[in-house]
Amino acid sequence: MEVSAEEEIQQIIAGKPHVVILGAGASYATFPDGDKHGRKLPLMSKFVETLGLGDLINKTGIRFDSNNFEDIYSSIYKRPELLEIREELEDRVWKYFSDMELPDEPTIYDHLVLSLRHKDFIATFNWDPFLVQAIKRNSDRFKLPRPLFLHGNVAVGYCTDGHMMGNNGGLCHHCHLPLTATNLLYPIGEKNYHLDQFILRQWATLEHLLKHAFMVTIFGYGAPTSDASAIELLKKAWGSIDERSMEEFEIIDVRKEDDLRNTWSPFIHTHHYRVETNFYDSWIANHPRRTHEAYVNQFVDAKFIENNPLPETAGFEELWDWYDKLQVVENAAST
Ligand SMILES: [Zn+2]
Repeated sequence: MEVSAEEEIQQIIAGKPHVVILGAGASYATFPDGDKHGRKLPLMSKFVETLGLGDLINKTGIRFDSNNFEDIYSSIYKRPELLEIREELEDRVWKYFSDMELPDEPTIYDHLVLSLRHKDFIATFNWDPFLVQAIKRNSDRFKLPRPLFLHGNVAVGYCTDGHMMGNNGGLCHHCHLPLTATNLLYPIGEKNYHLDQFILRQWATLEHLLKHAFMVTIFGYGAPTSDASAIELLKKAWGSIDERSMEEFEIIDVRKEDDLRNTWSPFIHTHHYRVETNFYDSWIANHPRRTHEAYVNQFVDAKFIENNPLPETAGFEELWDWYDKLQVVENAAST
């Protein structure tokens, strides 16, 4: 070994951001049997069924070509006469996700946030509150990555004067007015995310980050072809990555390689990308809080590197003690 796990822990470079993009598959992989209360995570293709929205959607009297809820919502959105049904859909979706809760023991979400640093970002398409809850319960002892919410989120509010984003229900630290809840549903086919002030900022930040990231990890995101704004952004990001040429994309997804190739081939014509079916095989889980350092050691300096896998089955106290030795080195480097 040219770089041992211990040497990796001791090494800090002024790293570029690692950007993680989370889709519904990430929450589903974390909670295949549901959240703390057994509430099931829906995949987009089973969304209507899992949330029990069939009766309400039938009231529209429309036959939809797609069973993707975001497509269905887009069609309903176009018809002003369905406003009442649309508002009830929005309410029911909000209620379903806002009651969700992380189980008491550490989850993939805890491992994910603990394994990245403050320079890193996690951009989620998910409405569930798990990313926010994981950041909250791990942030006393650790400097954690910053979140972005690409489709809004039940746990997040924002100041309409642009001062800050925070917990839904809280007050703006600057003007002391209540934060405004984010919208969850958009007619995604219309590329009009940008009409929403909150969403606009989230996407602008992500677009900027993708230009500077050394690695992008896409975890459980299916990149539905109907999501026009997302597709455009990812194409842009991949374009600039091609100019740099390096092994910078990692996809964590349980789907078969063929499915993934169909999804991602429009973005990565010639580019190599790494695929893992399990989060614990990912770069992040094997080089926690040192993803850029490990990347430079292996791909830039061409050294052999040892993995430093996170303790997958540890309870919180043991887990936090394990991550402490990484945080201590970071604290020393920043003073
Ligand atoms: Zn404010």
